[in-house]
Amino acid sequence: MQISIVIPLYHEEVIIDLMAERLIKVSQPDWEWIFVDDGSQDRTVEKLKPWLDRLEKWQLIRFSRNFGQQNAYRAGLDAAKGQAVVFLDADLQDPPEKIIDLIQAWQGGAKLVVGTRLSRSETGFRGFLFRSFHQIFYRLTDGVMPQNSGTFGLMDRVIVEELKRMPERSVLFQALRGWVGYKRATVDYHRSERIGGEIKQSYAKLFTQAWDGITSFSTLPIQWISTLGLLISLFGFLYAGFLLGIKAFQFFGKLQSLDVPGFTTVSVAVLCLGGIQLIAIGVIGQYLARVYHEVKQRPSYIIESHESRGI
Ligand code: UDP
Ligand code: MG
Repeated sequence: MQISIVIPLYHEEVIIDLMAERLIKVSQPDWEWIFVDDGSQDRTVEKLKPWLDRLEKWQLIRFSRNFGQQNAYRAGLDAAKGQAVVFLDADLQDPPEKIIDLIQAWQGGAKLVVGTRLSRSETGFRGFLFRSFHQIFYRLTDGVMPQNSGTFGLMDRVIVEELKRMPERSVLFQALRGWVGYKRATVDYHRSERIGGEIKQSYAKLFTQAWDGITSFSTLPIQWISTLGLLISLFGFLYAGFLLGIKAFQFFGKLQSLDVPGFTTVSVAVLCLGGIQLIAIGVIGQYLARVYHEVKQRPSYIIESHESRGI
């Protein structure tokens, strides 16, 4: 039974030796290892090459520049020949030794096997952001992505083929693979610290990914805007009625002592509403940008070189 394991690489020279050693230990003769170098400018690939001799089957895809983690996974998916495809980050946060458990669950009949973390190494602000995203995302998407899961997982060929058929460009595979459906299983594991080098997924990249994920699965943010607009208008009308009421009383000589504040009310209203309007336009604009991005139909990645052995 042939399994393909996709590993994206981006500036991972510090970890390559450690990673390769662990991969070689777990590797089986009919496993195909697919390394996708996402435009690394350091010695990642040079350091990987000598190790490849010790793996039976491998592919090495090199991008012409950095296209991002998701596109690296996409290239791996497109190149994979296996009956099942495993996604594994290079940083050893997800243990390669667990691939065997993923395969077992797959052989037990599941078409999608997702690694779920019993613990998460991200702490502090980063951890808080990760947890918040997962909670919001879970609610918005009716649970296409099991909670506490990441990229680490296995997909059967049927899911791979469905994903390859989808024309959309900006995706979050962690979620999209669950959207396809079929029987799903999870495998628990402890997530360790990132070994070697700094985190490659900067806050900006993670934010883009999170936003891509949310906007590709849900238009709820647009509905929130409408609801917010409705609430603010309601409040505005009530307040306007209240102020006009006082003015009317004053016209007939009553409530003279009540002062209707002018400047403060106006500036608070203008500033708050101005801010909310800009946010609202921004959200709509981002959906529009997605449409723009999708209709351009540019390729998701460009391959500079593609080497392989035993495939
Ligand atoms: N990665 C990539 N391109 C990028 C950023 C990251 O291919 O532009 C790869 C990286 O080499 C690693 C995986 O994506 O294999 C996850 O990266 P990282 O551990 O930095 O992110 P996190 O664990 O925070 O998602
Ligand atoms: Mg990581």
